This record gives sequence, structure tokens and C-alpha cells, in this order.
Amino acid sequence: MERLTGKTALVTGSSRGIGRAIALRLAQEGALVAVHCSANRDAADEVVATIEKDGGRAFVVQAELGVPGDVHELFLQLEEGLRERTGGTELTILVNNAGVMGGVAPEEVTPETFDRLYAVNAKAPFFIVQRALKNLPSGGRIINISSGLTRFANPQEIAYAMTKGAIDQLTLHFAKHLGPRGITVNSVGPGITNNGTPVFDIPEAVEQMAALSVFNRVGEPRDIADVVAFLAGDDARWITGSYLDASGGTLLG
Ligand code: NDP
Repeated sequence: MERLTGKTALVTGSSRGIGRAIALRLAQEGALVAVHCSANRDAADEVVATIEKDGGRAFVVQAELGVPGDVHELFLQLEEGLRERTGGTELTILVNNAGVMGGVAPEEVTPETFDRLYAVNAKAPFFIVQRALKNLPSGGRIINISSGLTRFANPQEIAYAMTKGAIDQLTLHFAKHLGPRGITVNSVGPGITNNGTPVFDIPEAVEQMAALSVFNRVGEPRDIADVVAFLAGDDARWITGSYLDASGGTLLG
């Protein structure tokens, strides 16, 4: 039995990496999925094609986040896509996944870099949630992709980690605000996860990264997608305001 049949989902940043795996998994469970991208339209089209090949339903929404008018543009396309396929604009599952990393020493962070990280990783998710309040029904789900770096120090990612700390605050306070409406809000914190970037092709680098996990491997996107699918379903109805560590035991030290 598909657990999400009749549900609709938006997964931001699902043209590749973790978001792609989340979109595929939610679609496998029966949800109609809006696959979101910024510039990488071909990759998003490929995700939709893969979902459809497997008998699922999906469509692309393309909007750069972190720029003026971003959320308006996103929801224009989202609501049009939902209306065409369902006759309405109800959004059951919102996954705030799109994000950019820093990789800059604390001494090198400029105000422009800092603002950009905040605009994409923290400000956009806040205003996406705010806008989605019109669309989310009782039983709705908001799942925010945080990071193990909110608990595990890495000075090269200080500004990025601050944005993810903001995501956890978004989770906490909206969970209280939306509880009376029957909507759950949770964060998922991945550890190092193979998102297909070139560093994952370097065996020595992978070995070092794997050693951070008690399972001695790096995470795969589906490791995170499975956790998100759990939170999206009815089995997770009693979980809200939580940070779920999905780092393969990285935080165990
Ligand atoms: P990727 O870099 O593989 O993919 C990023 C996705 O976000 C793409 O779909 C991209 O779209 C989209 N995106 C990026 N910037 C923007 C923007 N300005 N506007 C709209 N969309 C944008 O990411 P990951 O899979 O690695 O990460 C996914 C999430 O997980 C992020 O929030 C990240 O911080 C978090 N995370 C990742 C970890 C990891 O090790 N990979 C560890 C911990 C947390 P497009 O393809 O069009 O560019």
C-alpha cells in the first residue's frame, strides 16, 4: 500500500542530490511531487521522467531562491501545476531542502557571501513556509533539511552552519504555531552525504569523510530520503518540533 497516495509534495532543490532522492521516494509512496530547481532545468526534467517511468506523478517548478520575488514565482508555478493535476492548490508535504554551502575560512567570509547563504538557506524557507500556510491542510507536514553542522563544529562552514541553526529555530517555533492546525514541523540533520560532487570520486577523501560516521561510510541521498518519507507519513503524526539526526552516528564523537 502506497502511504502517500492522494498527497501532494513540494521538494525544493530536488533536481539533484538529497532533494532528488526525496522526490523519488515521496513519488514512490504515491505523492504527486513538484520537483523544484533553480537553473538546472534538464536535471529536474530527468527527475520527473524517472518518476513517471516508475508510474508516479510529478512536475517541474523552476525558481531561483534568495532573490526578490522568489517565493511568489515558486508558488505561481506550484499552484498552477497542482490546479492542473488535482483541481485545487492543496499542498500536503513541504520539504525545504534547497541549500548552498560555504566552504570558506571564517577570516574570508564577506558580507555578500553571508547574505547569500542566509537568503537561500534561511530567509527563503521562512517565507516559503509563510506562503504555504494557505495551502497546507490539517495533517500537513513541513520537513526542513538542517545539518549535523548545527551540532558538530567545522570552522570552514561557520556561516552555513548559522543558517542551519536558523532552520532549526524555524522548525521549533512553527511547530508550536501550527500544532493546533494538525501540521507537524521537523528538521532532519544529514551528515556528509554523497551528492555526486567530484570530491566523492576521490577515494582518500571519501575514506576520511566515512571515518566520521560510526558506520564508516558516507551517507547516500536515500538514507536521508527514507527519514523524510517516514516524517511525511501518518506513522510520524506524534513527532513535531524535533531535530532528527540522520548523520550515521557522526554526532556520537
Ligand atoms: P546539492 O548541491 O546536490 O543540490 C542543491 C539543490 O538545491 C539543487 O537542486 C539546486 O538546484 C538547488 N538550489 C541551490 N541553490 C538554489 C537557489 N538559490 N535557488 C533555488 N534552488 C537552489 O545539495 P545537497 O543534496 O548536497 O544538499 C541538500 C540539502 O541538504 C541542503 O540544504 C544542504 O545544506 C543539506 N545538507 C547536505 C549535506 C551533504 O553532505 N550533501 C550535509 C548536511 C546537510 P539546481 O540544480 O537548479 O542548481
